[in-house]
This record gives sequence, structure tokens and C-alpha cells, in this order.
Amino acid sequence: MRAHVITFGCQMNEYDTLTIQSELVAGGHELVDAPQDANLILLNTCAVRGKPIEKVVSLLGDLRKERRAGRDVSVALMGCLAQLDEGKAIAEKFEVDALVGPGAITDVLEAIEAIEEARFAGERAAFESLRFREDLVDHHTPPHEGALTGFLTIMRGCDHHCTYCIVPTTRGPEVSRPLEAIVREAEAMARAGVQEVYLLGQNVNSYGLGDASLPSFAELLRTVARVGIPRVKFTTSHPMNFTSDVIDAIAEEEAVCNYIHLPVQSGSDRVLRRMAREYGRERYLDIVREIRAKVPDVVLSTDIIVGFPGETEEDFSETLSLFDEVAFEHAYTFIYSARPGTPSHRHFDDMPKRIKTDRLARLIELQKAHSLRANGALVGRELRVLVKEAARDGDFVMGHSDQQHTVLVPKDQVRRLGLHSVRVDQATPHTLYGSVVGADVGAVPLRLAS
Ligand code: SF4
Repeated sequence: MRAHVITFGCQMNEYDTLTIQSELVAGGHELVDAPQDANLILLNTCAVRGKPIEKVVSLLGDLRKERRAGRDVSVALMGCLAQLDEGKAIAEKFEVDALVGPGAITDVLEAIEAIEEARFAGERAAFESLRFREDLVDHHTPPHEGALTGFLTIMRGCDHHCTYCIVPTTRGPEVSRPLEAIVREAEAMARAGVQEVYLLGQNVNSYGLGDASLPSFAELLRTVARVGIPRVKFTTSHPMNFTSDVIDAIAEEEAVCNYIHLPVQSGSDRVLRRMAREYGRERYLDIVREIRAKVPDVVLSTDIIVGFPGETEEDFSETLSLFDEVAFEHAYTFIYSARPGTPSHRHFDDMPKRIKTDRLARLIELQKAHSLRANGALVGRELRVLVKEAARDGDFVMGHSDQQHTVLVPKDQVRRLGLHSVRVDQATPHTLYGSVVGADVGAVPLRLAS
């Protein structure tokens, strides 16, 4: 079949799409870049908030219209939404041919077999696989050809039960991948010229927990830091498992970047209890203090949910004061979105949208001030930047620093994609503008879309 995969959501879904594509190619199917050239469309979906689901529904609506108008195309609904009753209902309504959950993505060839049999019989397939395949963790996913950045899933699922989160339902319990499988993929990436690898998991810090045959996350980090990839980053962490040995590995390993994404979600102990986050404000601040002491030029980012059911103005001011106390360099801020199937959706009443949007706007203003102060302090400094792509403003190319700053440099100063030394000339809350002062020999020739 001529297959096209459309990916929604997080980096773990990006990685899963690479796994799906490697299975398709291994099964003799062709990957096509344009959806209109495909006779099989695979949607690798996200269910963490309402928005990505709306996009999937609109896409399925268009595909159903095209099929009713005679287009010969089969559709597979994959990923987190497929694992939910909501996804099943959507699949039924839009006559989807296959439903494959995130734990069963390597069943995609079986799904295609069922689709081909049904096509041959002039019928619509109704393939379904929602199991959590144990052998998925052993699957070897080759690096994306020519990629400078690699994503490497080190574990699947989550054993925490935050009340607003659907992930434990869609991705199941935590399963850590064997060390050999991870090192094999990291070494393949190093050979393929990957300059930066993200170790991925819903909660990477609990890697190997409860399994004596596996190393700890800190030991894994040190191992991957020595396979020859210049930059190692990881996401996502849960404060409950962010231990001193991990902080030491970040401080001591050259390749492990001084960038930490540590979601706090709220600054109020009362709200953190309602979210079942398992830590309090002081515990979080203790971790931040240890990080700042051991990794002086670390960049800290976080996730925040505003407008969680029951959040009072007083609770919200706790979040604002935590922002001042930590002074995050960057933050991803979200309005609470009630997800069917989560405890908070079942038990708590949602609050008026206008209160949520007002609080979000105030938090964003505060964060912009902290980001501008932090970025401003970098003017005149030299950063190592992985230049990867054209910026929206055609005169610039874009990249990210070791600490995840977004950096733009004039296109005419760059002959190669890859790692460059950049002097920061100007700063805004979200972007640094700089000049190239040196390029790593390992960089690949500049080939940018015009
Ligand atoms: S740690 Fe909480 S928010 Fe993160 S994936 Fe697990 S349950 Fe969801």
C-alpha cells in the first residue's frame, strides 16, 4: 500500500510514528509524503486535550466525504485516542478500517492484512488491536535518515495517577526498555550523524524502578552520554522521581545538556493534592534548590495548568509566587481541559472559561518578564546552537541551544546545518538573535527548502 502517517501530540508519538513507518517499510509498503497520493492514511493521535481530538475528527470527516465521493483510501486510527471509548465511537462514526492503540503499534502490518482482505472482498475492514504488546519495548526503531535530532523512547506508560491525566489509561503501566535496546538505538543514531538525542518517556526518571536487572535513570543517562552523540536531553520528568543521582549525572556528564523540564502544574499545595501530584510546593522547591546549586547555568522549564477545578484566587497567587521564587526560564502554560475518563472529569466541576483565560493571561505576562530577564542576561554570551531549519522569516535559520533556547541567525552566515557557536546579540522573551562565530566540523551541508 501507499501509506501516509499523520502525527499528533507529543514527541513520544513522533517516535511511535518512526516505529510505525519502519514496520510499514519492513512489510514492503511504500511511504508517501503527500496524503493525497496515499491509499492508506494512518492517524497517530493524541488524547491529552480536546484540541487535537477536534483536528482528528475534522480530518476524518473530510476523508469520509472523499471516500463517499469514490476515493479509494483506507484509514487507520492509531495512538492514544484509539485506546479510549471516545476513539472507538469516532472510528465507528467515520467508518475507520483499523483501530490500533499506542501499546500495539507494531500490529500495523496485521491491520493492513485485514484491510487488504476486506478490500478484496469489497468490504470495509474492522480491525482492532488495543493490547499492550510486551515485546514493543524490544522493537528496534532505526534513526530517521539525515536527522540531526533523534527521539529515543526509553520507557512506556505511567504509574502515576494525576487526576486530570488520561495517559495511564491510554498508555498503560510503566514498562522500561532493555538497556541493550536503548544503547543499540543510540549507537545507530551516533553512526547516522545525529547531533542531539531526546530520551523520552511519560516519566523518564522512573526508568528501571522496581527492576533489578535494569540500571537507574542516572546510570542510563551516563551510559547514553558516552555513545558519541554531542547532546543528550530528556523529557518528561516527575518531581517525585527527580533524585540527586540524576542531578549529579547532569552536572558531571559533558554531553548531558543543562536543560531540565520539570512540570510542577501548580504552586498551591491544596491544588497539587486535588491533582494527586504526590509532592508539595516545598518538596518541589527543594529539588529546584539542589539543581540550581549543582548545575549553575541550568535552564529550567515547567508545565502549569491554570483553572484546575476548585482553584481559588488564593491558590492561583501561590502559583504566581512560585514562579517568582523559581524564576523559570521558560514555561508551557495550559488551561485545564476536562478529559472524559479522568478522575477530575468524574469528580470535580469545571470553572467558568473567563476565569481560566484571565489567570492564563496573567501567568503568561509574568513568565514573559522572567524569560526576558533570563534571555537578556545572555546578550554578548556565546552559545552552542544546533542549526536545523529555515526560520519563518526567510532571512534567518533557526536552531536550539544546549539549554533549549530558540536561536535565530542570519541565513547568509550559515553554510551547514549542525552545531555552531553563536554570539547572542539580541533577546526577546521567546527568541535569541545571534551571529555565527564558529561551526563544528561535523555539520552537514546546508540544504534548506527555498
Ligand atoms: S505523571 Fe501524571 S501527568 Fe504525567 S503522564 Fe503520568 S499521570 Fe499523566
